Amino acid sequence: MKRAFALPLLLVFLLTGCSGRTSAGQAAGTEQTPSPEQSSAAQPVTGTVFAMDTVMELTIYGGEDLLSAARERIEELESKLSVTEESSEIYGVNHSGGGTLSADTADLLSRALDLCGRTNGALDLSIYPVVRAWGFTTGEYRVPGRGELEKLLAHVDYTRIDLDEASGRVSLADSMEIDLGSVAKGYTGDQVIALLREHGVTSALLNLGGNVQALGGKPDGSPWRIAVRDPFGDGYVGILEVVDQAVITSGGYERYFVEDGQTYWHIIDPAAGAPVRNGLVSVTIVGESGLVCDGLSTALFVMGLEDAAAFWQQSDDFEAVLVTEDGQIHITEGLEDVFSLPDQGSGLEGVTVIRRG
Ligand code: AMP
Ligand code: MG
Repeated sequence: MKRAFALPLLLVFLLTGCSGRTSAGQAAGTEQTPSPEQSSAAQPVTGTVFAMDTVMELTIYGGEDLLSAARERIEELESKLSVTEESSEIYGVNHSGGGTLSADTADLLSRALDLCGRTNGALDLSIYPVVRAWGFTTGEYRVPGRGELEKLLAHVDYTRIDLDEASGRVSLADSMEIDLGSVAKGYTGDQVIALLREHGVTSALLNLGGNVQALGGKPDGSPWRIAVRDPFGDGYVGILEVVDQAVITSGGYERYFVEDGQTYWHIIDPAAGAPVRNGLVSVTIVGESGLVCDGLSTALFVMGLEDAAAFWQQSDDFEAVLVTEDGQIHITEGLEDVFSLPDQGSGLEGVTVIRRG
């Protein structure tokens, strides 16, 4: 079996800043937790949580109690949203064709369904039976036959997920199953940031398995520097400077298998029931809402470069970095001043800027 891509630990990683006593690299990388006496706005508390099938690193400029509160909130959301945990709300709904959701789950489902509509079904939360048929839920990978996929696709249609947000009642048409894997981490990041904000935190960085979400900037007011992973290796294609924003990547290299020389990855084109193959290898979305960025990173990957650019042109709530399989980098114009290449001296040479006009 040939490996098409290096398998990185993190899909977006953090760079050491160049000045000040704190740096993004320190913030994301260290496991050391200061004692309560040391905890102050000048010294972050850091911690690791394993949840949602990934390692999450939290860096909070605030007290130790906030780290525990953030951890509890993540665990609470995981226990509601997991597609595999038998006690979760989503598992319950998937196995009984409906049910009543908590306010969190109803809120996420409602907003994620809006994204399915907005992306014209490139994002489809009912894709789960197809994801499972390819083995992405268990790691027992296989290429399903055409007939099998056609049968499964008959149960894929997000418009048949019927949700009454006020009461939380949801019902699914027969044999449908919901998968929130494309949006759950982004939503969780938003919820943790809201919680920290309520407690007066003005600086924090969450790395939820490659989904990076920033609260404020660094304590000295400078932006966080977030590296966008190179889909072809362990390096990075560029650095984004952000304040109060999410930077969320969908990459083909995150989960994939190779059979008969062909690479199949975990992002599925709902129209075909098969891993999408359109020339893109990674899509990074930058914006205020983690949920929106997470949903759109998956959706724009499905759309392909041209349709993704057209979609961005009609939107005003995100920017994007798109990398194609021939190594070309495309950025939307709102990132022109905040994106830089690893070789600082070369400006944006070789990068294509997608413009509105
Ligand atoms: P992400 O890493 O955010 O792009 O999410 C990828 C995950 O979302 C996959 O592992 C699947 O569980 C699920 N997924 C794959 N394709 C789609 C799709 N077109 N719409 C919604 N969810 C998808
Ligand atoms: Mg996503």
